[in-house]
Amino acid sequence: MDFEPSPKAREYQERLREFMDERVYPAEPEYARWRAEHMATDPHALPPVVEELKAEARARGLWNLFLPDVSGLSNLEYAPLAELTGRSPDLAPEAVNCAAPDTGNMEVLHMFGTPEQKKRWLEPLLDGEIRSAFAMTEPEVASSDATNITTSIVRDGDEYVVNGRKWFITGAADERCKIFIVMGKTDPDAPAHRQQSQILVPRDTPGVRIVRHLPVFGYQDQHGHSEIVFEDVRVPAANLIAREGDGFMIAQARLGPGRIHHCMRALGMAERALELMCARATARVAFGEPLAAQGVVRQQIAESRMAIEQARLLTLKTAWLIDRHGAKGARSEIAAIKVVVPRITHEVLDRAIQVHGGMGVSDDTPLAQMYSWVRAMRIFDGPDEVHVRTVARQELRRYE
Ligand SMILES: Cc1cc2nc3c(=O)[nH]c(=O)nc-3n(C[C@H](O)[C@H](O)[C@H](O)COP(=O)(O)OP(=O)(O)OC[C@H]3O[C@@H](n4cnc5c(N)ncnc54)[C@H](O)[C@@H]3O)c2cc1C
Repeated sequence: MDFEPSPKAREYQERLREFMDERVYPAEPEYARWRAEHMATDPHALPPVVEELKAEARARGLWNLFLPDVSGLSNLEYAPLAELTGRSPDLAPEAVNCAAPDTGNMEVLHMFGTPEQKKRWLEPLLDGEIRSAFAMTEPEVASSDATNITTSIVRDGDEYVVNGRKWFITGAADERCKIFIVMGKTDPDAPAHRQQSQILVPRDTPGVRIVRHLPVFGYQDQHGHSEIVFEDVRVPAANLIAREGDGFMIAQARLGPGRIHHCMRALGMAERALELMCARATARVAFGEPLAAQGVVRQQIAESRMAIEQARLLTLKTAWLIDRHGAKGARSEIAAIKVVVPRITHEVLDRAIQVHGGMGVSDDTPLAQMYSWVRAMRIFDGPDEVHVRTVARQELRRYE
């Protein structure tokens, strides 16, 4: 295993770092100020700086880096780039058109879309003209077990009719989100993993009703996490992705890369938190010494560095495995990093908040919001327990 960046990857890293320093970090206060001003009247309105950053990133050739067939970058080459964008999670991933959930949706359309579906939805997504959402989770059933979902997708002549209720559908509050990939059941009598299908539902289809946007620990993200009702929603049969019964398989294909991308970005948050922790610990004096002189603080800094390095190595190994053997060949590792990375990032952020004292829980630093996000990350894209189950199953298989 060789984790030395290729010349191409190194060059991308330099350019992305420059973009972050010159444009993204300086835009953070403007983004926060604009959102605060609009929070009462329109909490999901888009600060203009986002589209400005997108145009700038594209002009710099920093665009769609996540998709190997488009960017020419392997997962291993993309990992440090995604990590860099994770340092400014509200701005950088979207600026370079590598934000969730669109990346996963683009991957699905890239892998399984018909030429018409690609033209209608993938092209504008790759161009950053629209955004998208993935609708699987339902309030009524334990959705960490995707075989539980109850939304129905029923064929009726040249159309499918969709009925169901979804929630926590990331991205749906953003007006630019024009398309939902909806997971439902086409055949409840088929074997457990062949009952589901995925279908494209344009946002403006009659019968689609957005009920509310759920906060995450009180934060309303700009793109939102929405509860949506689908009531007798009719779409052309040609909107089905792949074949009836392929829904579970597509979900697995989508979540593999999606999970590793989340982990890469979370490592960027952990790095930024550690930087902020060190800066604060050296500048702040208590009881006659900088905080950094205290053994207990040094311990927290060292624990954070050691944890980040371990988690990053496992993430890079996973990226390396995906490049060689596909997401299937890295199943156990993908599950492992989805547990390890949010866990250690959560711990690093917790320590960084502690070292900042009261300031750490305010919004004067990005720490509090990042903390809420990585806590949620231990639930979305599969809760920790489900991934632990996968790791154990793979491990025990050798003995059974
Ligand atoms: C911020 C955020 C964004 C999200 N974005 C999306 C999105 O865009 N699209 C979408 O479809 N969904 C999304 N989700 C939903 C998310 O994927 C689900 O919440 C998650 O899969 C868990 O499903 P559930 O909430 O139904 O929990 P449940 O399935 O009810 O599970 C509850 C708890 O039970 C425990 N548990 C479950 N299985 C086991 C097991 N085998 N062993 C031991 N314990 C277990 C776990 O602790 C788990 O947290 C998002 C969630 C959040 C918080």
